[in-house]
Amino acid sequence: QSRLAFVDLQPPDPILGVSEAFKRDTNDLKLNLGVGAYRTEELKPYVLNVVKKAEKIMLESEENKEYLPIQGLEAFNKATAELLLGKDHPAIKEGGIATLQSLSGTGSLRVAADFIAKFLPGTTAYLSNPTWGNHKNIFADAGVEWKWYRYFDPKTVGLDFEGLMDDIRAAPEGSVIVLHGCAHNPTGVDPTREQWQQIADLVIEKNHLPFFDVAYQGFASGSLDDDAWAPRYFASRGIELLVAQSYSKNLGLYAERVGAINFVLSDAEAAKKVMSQLKRIARALYSNPPVHGARIASLVVSRPELFQEWNEEMEYMSGRIKDVRQVLHDELAKLNGDKDWSFILRQLGMFSFTGLNPGQVENMTNKHHVYMTKDGRISLAGLPSSKAAYLAAAIDDSFR
Ligand code: PMP
Repeated sequence: QSRLAFVDLQPPDPILGVSEAFKRDTNDLKLNLGVGAYRTEELKPYVLNVVKKAEKIMLESEENKEYLPIQGLEAFNKATAELLLGKDHPAIKEGGIATLQSLSGTGSLRVAADFIAKFLPGTTAYLSNPTWGNHKNIFADAGVEWKWYRYFDPKTVGLDFEGLMDDIRAAPEGSVIVLHGCAHNPTGVDPTREQWQQIADLVIEKNHLPFFDVAYQGFASGSLDDDAWAPRYFASRGIELLVAQSYSKNLGLYAERVGAINFVLSDAEAAKKVMSQLKRIARALYSNPPVHGARIASLVVSRPELFQEWNEEMEYMSGRIKDVRQVLHDELAKLNGDKDWSFILRQLGMFSFTGLNPGQVENMTNKHHVYMTKDGRISLAGLPSSKAAYLAAAIDDSFR
């Protein structure tokens, strides 16, 4: 008998566990719409052309493999803050920003959560209901209490804006409000610009600390600039904010773990001190971040010809997802014209939140070999248009 025999078995991760189950299925019809990873029409993983070009440049310049500093690659940190806020933002010019390269979106969120636990003890983080499943784990493991704010209204398949405002208003002053920068995961429902303005007003009134999770910059509209509108707008209102960035999706660098945590602050002195503490946290967690992907991202963002091409590839990827939305919508409308499927076209980003309940999701998987998360989310980034009719039939059957 092991001394660890008392340890409970942890159920598989709700998102990554779906991929594990998918691998075990031997049926040829199987479709993995669980994890948000972009695939081509042929269902192949996609390495962006700009990534290959950047890697070629790196190979030719014979980069070494020595440690990065704790805070990461300097060129990357500069580039990533500029991609987020735009080159001319006062915080960048005046140094009121602390940017630390971290282990993609997840690691960046975790470093900030540890910072909140350490320097803002007792502060609650408010998460949208629903949200990406890992947010809860990240804050809970860091020792930050979290609560929901209302977000999604199943009746309208849209934003519960009143519920959101009421809950953010009711939160104690100075709470951390976690906001999805764009392409909300899992619902695909974002506030409008007018609504963002009202959220910003309320955040100022309540002295809250907004924490943007930007994991899909480029995937909502196809434009990297437009998708950064919300955090840029908040910063332009003089609001101090936190932003976690990920290059997993928009540069397809999933396994390279490229991202950053940014503290956009109103004075450079505070930013310097915060930076020193972020380094202290990262040092104990993983010491320093990986270099390969950071070099790729910094080259792509900072070289105009690569940046231009990235924008085009971004439009291409998000365009393919929009096309597949249309095909899925049309197929469902053909099968059941009585139901309003227009929500599929309205939703933004990689996902569609179908409204399938857990029992219906089980039917999707057990009967139709369609793998998706229990909350009814499907990743359209993993759906070729040739399989849309099959998926539509499975969804229609599961709703009946
Ligand atoms: N935030 C959100 C909302 C996400 O959907 C994801 C990826 N699924 C992440 C953060 C982090 O992903 P990664 O750690 O790969 O950057």
